[in-house]
Formats: sequence, C-alpha cells, structure tokens
Amino acid sequence: MAEEKFVGTPLKAATHVNQNENLIFEKSSPGKKAYKLPPLDVPTVDAHTLLGDSTRSDLGVMPELSEIEIVRHFTRLSTWNYAIDLGMYPLGSCTMKYNPRVNELVSRLEGLAEAHPYQPEQLSQGSLGIMKLLSECLVEITGMDTITLQPAAGAHGEFTGILLVRAYHGSKGNPRKKILIPDSAHGTNPATAAVCGYQVENLKSNAQGMVDVAELEKLVDEDTAALMLTNPSTIGVFESEIHKIADVLHAKGALLYMDGANMNALVGKVRPGDFGVDVMHLNLHKTFSTPHGGGGPGSGPVACKKILEPFLPAPVVVTKADGTLGLEYNRPQSVGRVRAFYGNFGMFIRALAYILANGPDGLRQTTEDAVLNANYVRAKLEDTFELPYKTRTLHEVVFSDRLQARNGVKTGDFAKRLIDYGFHPYTTSFPMIVPGAMMIEPTESESKEELDLFVDAMRQIAQEVAENPQHVLDAPHSTRVARMDETTAARKPVLRWKPEQAS
Ligand SMILES: *Cc1c(COP(=O)(O)O)cnc(C)c1O
Repeated sequence: MAEEKFVGTPLKAATHVNQNENLIFEKSSPGKKAYKLPPLDVPTVDAHTLLGDSTRSDLGVMPELSEIEIVRHFTRLSTWNYAIDLGMYPLGSCTMKYNPRVNELVSRLEGLAEAHPYQPEQLSQGSLGIMKLLSECLVEITGMDTITLQPAAGAHGEFTGILLVRAYHGSKGNPRKKILIPDSAHGTNPATAAVCGYQVENLKSNAQGMVDVAELEKLVDEDTAALMLTNPSTIGVFESEIHKIADVLHAKGALLYMDGANMNALVGKVRPGDFGVDVMHLNLHKTFSTPHGGGGPGSGPVACKKILEPFLPAPVVVTKADGTLGLEYNRPQSVGRVRAFYGNFGMFIRALAYILANGPDGLRQTTEDAVLNANYVRAKLEDTFELPYKTRTLHEVVFSDRLQARNGVKTGDFAKRLIDYGFHPYTTSFPMIVPGAMMIEPTESESKEELDLFVDAMRQIAQEVAENPQHVLDAPHSTRVARMDETTAARKPVLRWKPEQAS
C-alpha cells in the first residue's frame, strides 16, 4: 500500500475491467454490413428518379461494421458513463432522481408509442385523454387555473411564460419594460427576460438568502412587468414572504412568475397558486421523473391563472359538445405555437404514470423524503464544510469551499475527486451568491446507505485536502481520461471526426 497517497479507501468504487474503444469510424472497414437481406425481387429505381434534386450524393464517409461490432461498440462506451442507475447523482438544481421502469413500460405501449400527431382526433382519444388528465393533475398540484404542455424544457417554459406576461400587459395597452430578478436566480431567468425583450433589473438577496421585501418595494413601479422568482431558491430556501412579495407586485399591476424547476421540494405540501403566483413552469424531467441529462427530451409545462389563459399557445385540448376530446386552434389572442405539434408527448405519458403510481400521498411522501435526505447530508457535513446560509434547507443544501480553499483546493477539485469515490459530482460554483459553491441535491431516491457512502466520501476528501492536497488537485485518478483542460474544451471544441490524411 506504499503508493496509496490518499487517506481513505473509497467504500463504493473499485477498479473493474473497462475496455478501450476507438471511434466507430476508425473501426470501419469497407463492405461490412450489419444485416442480410433476401435477393431483391422488385425492379430497382435509383434514388434520383424518386427524390429528384432532394437526393444527397455527398454522404461522406459512413462507418461500415458488423452487427456484433456495433453492439460491442456502444455497450463498451456505455460502461464509461456514470448514470443514475449506477449510483447517487447529487447534481444540485437538476433533481437527478430515479426514473421508474414502469414509466418506460407505459410509454412504449404500442398505441401510444406509434400514435401519429396527424392521426384524426377520433382516433386519438387516448392520447388526448392523457394530455387532459396530466393537465388536470398538474393544475391541481400547482393550484393554478390552466396549463400548456407545449414547452420542451424548463428554459423554454420560462420563455413561454414570459411571452404570456408580455401579451397580458400588451393587451392592456401598457407594455412594460422591465423584469426584476434576484441575484440567486438560475441563469436561464435573466436570459429569458432578455430574449423576450425586457430589461433585467437585479434584486439583491438579504442575509438569509431571500428576497428583501423592502428592497423589492423600492424597485417595483408601473414599468415592472414581473418578478421572476425561483422558489425554493437555488440555495434550497423557501421564500417565506412569498405572499407579501406577490402583494407588492400586484399593487403595482406587475405579475409574479415562479420558476418551478424546484417543485420537488413543494409537491403535495404547498401550491404556488395559493400563495400569489400568476404563472410558472414545471420541469417534468426533474420533479416528475422523466429522463434527462443526455437521456432524452425534456418537458416544461407552463401553468397560469385565468387572466393569462387567452394568451396560451395553441392548440389546447378541449372537451367538445359531443363529449369527445379535441384540439382547439382558434385562439385569437394566443402567443402562437412554441413547439411542433403538442410538445414532447412521450414525457407526458411518463410523468402521468409517475403521478398516478404515487397518488397524492405518495407524492407528498416523495417531497418529504427529498427534504429529509438533503437535511441528512447537511447535518452530517455541517462540521466539515462551511454553510454560508443557515436558513432551513429544503430539497438541496449549498456549502462553500472556503475552509478547504485555504489549502488551494476548490469546489471543482473536490467534485473531480468525488468521481474516484464512485459518485457523480455535485453542482459546482452555482449559485453565484455563494463563492465556491458546492450544491448538493440527493433527491428522495437515495437510501440511507448510499447517503452514508456519499458523506464518507466527502469527509475523506476533506481529510485528503488537509494531508495531501495535490492528490485531490490531480483527480480524477480512476477515470479513462484524466483532468481535462476545460477552458480549451469549451473555447476550441473539436466536434467533428475527419479521416486522417494519408501521408
Ligand atoms: C433546471 C432549471 C432550469 C432550466 O431547465 P431546463 O429544462 O434545463 O431548461 C431553470 N431554472 C431552474 C431553477 C432550474 O433548476
């Protein structure tokens, strides 16, 4: 064990066979095929005759491999990845929870998976029924009046929600100019406001990491369109004065937008519609367990109050006079479409399966377990890491690297070293109001055993920092690729394979 330079031995991770693998283009050899077809017994027609000028002739180099080579290629690559199915993925703000297999099963039912968006309404009653029931469930969960399922992600939901706000003020002949955003906000919030043509005005947080209501009162005026507020905030703190915040805005005719990406801390406990929120988005791919993070398309429904309903994207699902379901396109005040067809339908099925499988009590329990897990991690690590905001933690806890940074080890180094211990890194350097942030969101999926392994890993790394900081600075040691030059990777990315020039 002489070469063992680090303090502890990771309890979870061990070395295992992990095979080398070239790019699929490099494995290609001409003439190989992954299929065998019977001899052609119909006349051949060349592609150009069929497709005319739409035919592409510049296909470039396409890989040619046998079936087993393809299977092995992707299977080997898959063993290089970390996934929620391997262990805890405490990426704060992202809610990387387990995606129950039953959701996948339901979404693959033939009648749903093979349904075509242009199928006539009378043949789409099941699909429309899923959209209607999911809408009703989400309206009940949020306490809002109505919803659109169209947006394809959280940021896209923000965009849609702020378009509703803009259409609302416009319809009153009073286009307002600015949107207020707290300094703790997710980066997508100011980006959304700017893309929708608003000036962004920054709102400073108070010592508890919450909106300073007195400060807000000074800033809100007749030119304020809305406040965009993440609740619970990105430091996992509930805005306990949210109803006052809503009153301050409403008194000046401004609206309250809630970034609901963190609903995992609220579902079944409180409803934004009850505490004054006018419009909000949900992340089905976070709170409602549909796959995300390279794992599939997202879905960011936008729920709103009655006053914003006329502006919702078309079409909306309606019950027709004969009792069947249909799609209504004739909505003169609509902000228009934000997505092809009706949104990412496969995500609706998964989210509805999750909601129905849990039921109201199950969803409430989920929320309680998510908050309990975050508080367990907080309690176990509070004596090792600095906790800049002592306010009660909901679904995530944000430490800072201040104590360890004295030895030159920053949040990003810690995160890299976690990989050696068998965990996906937590979120680093966000939110910005915490310098050197270490943002940990365990979600309800984790057992006490996995949480304890994580806590042990974090403590051991902290000890390594004290005894051999260089070992942490050089991490990860167990991965196929060592520490990357992240700046070069971001600034000069090489995204395309090109055949090597014959020399
Ligand atoms: C994840 C997240 C978003 C953005 O959601 P995407 O689906 O990634 O676009 C917005 N706000 C908060 C607080 C989030 O956590």
